[in-house]
Amino acid sequence: MAEEIRDVVIMGSGCSGLTAAIYTGRANLKPLVLEGHEPGGQLSMTTLVENFPGWPEGIHGPELIENMRKQAERFGAEFRIGHVSKADLAQRPFTLTVGQETIKTRALIIASGASARWLGLPSEKALIGHGVSSCATCDGFFFSGKEIAVIGGGDSAMEEALFLTRFASRVTLIHRRESFRASKIMLERARTHGKIHFLTNTVVEEVLDVAAKEVTGLKLRNLVTGRQWTLPVSAMFLGIGHEPNATAFAGTLETDDDGYLKVRDWVHTGVAGVYACGDVADRRYRQAITASGTGCMAAIEVEKFLEENGR
Ligand code: NAP
Repeated sequence: MAEEIRDVVIMGSGCSGLTAAIYTGRANLKPLVLEGHEPGGQLSMTTLVENFPGWPEGIHGPELIENMRKQAERFGAEFRIGHVSKADLAQRPFTLTVGQETIKTRALIIASGASARWLGLPSEKALIGHGVSSCATCDGFFFSGKEIAVIGGGDSAMEEALFLTRFASRVTLIHRRESFRASKIMLERARTHGKIHFLTNTVVEEVLDVAAKEVTGLKLRNLVTGRQWTLPVSAMFLGIGHEPNATAFAGTLETDDDGYLKVRDWVHTGVAGVYACGDVADRRYRQAITASGTGCMAAIEVEKFLEENGR
């Protein structure tokens, strides 16, 4: 049997990948969407999304993703569970290794996203969406008038802490060291803000209360003195960075120092026919709507590329 060659494969099923699937589907390109390690992407882990235009009452992240997926399927997108471990972009068509299988494709859209870093505590995992969050823009609003903790010592943590002061009665920023990676200006802004209080040399040992299915406090330990205590808070926001999911392209596509794919003109990688969209190439905005926007752009570029190459 002749080996199948797809017109376009989309890596990732978050909002950028699904938007690319809707557009390439409507262009009759029968996209194959590889769902990746976190099907549905970061939205599938959030609760109410109130800033995606078109949903005046808000919509739950998993429902928004499910709707996009149905929309893509309606236009002929095919979905397969799988994660690309290797990509040969030197030969055309491109070859992707997915488990034991290889898939050939004329064009590729990389929408594999970025995964928030977590502390790795079982109690943290159990309370994601119930007071544990990695997105202040998405979830801060739910904690109006409450005491909140932010973890991290970089610009993301400062930004989250400053943003959360709009809602919280008090923000405690918890950092594992004495010195900070954050830029001076961001650190200064956070330090001088009346609502933000700093705890340094401090780590979270447990998030309370898994049995109650809500965050009621954090068990903390000071790494210098060894002191342990419980800080009562209603939410814990992680600001300890993101990891772009681009390891399959190490050495093949250009990345910045933190592994985000470099793009020019929004979605073009250094290889013609290979486009990157959403959080894997965006460390700045990281919003559902911007990821969908670049997903749309990548799809339009694929259409153009295939047409110019005789498809
Ligand atoms: P980052 O600079 O890598 O900082 C991550 C912070 O999280 C560090 O303080 C690190 O602690 C801490 N951390 C990492 N793993 C941890 C763990 N397991 N437990 C406890 N703490 C942990 O990441 P980022 O803040 O996301 O920033 C990434 C890049 O984006 C930076 O270049 C930043 O300037 C940029 N950025 C800019 C802005 C802005 O300008 N508005 C906003 C956000 C991000 P250690 O210091 O001890 O390693």
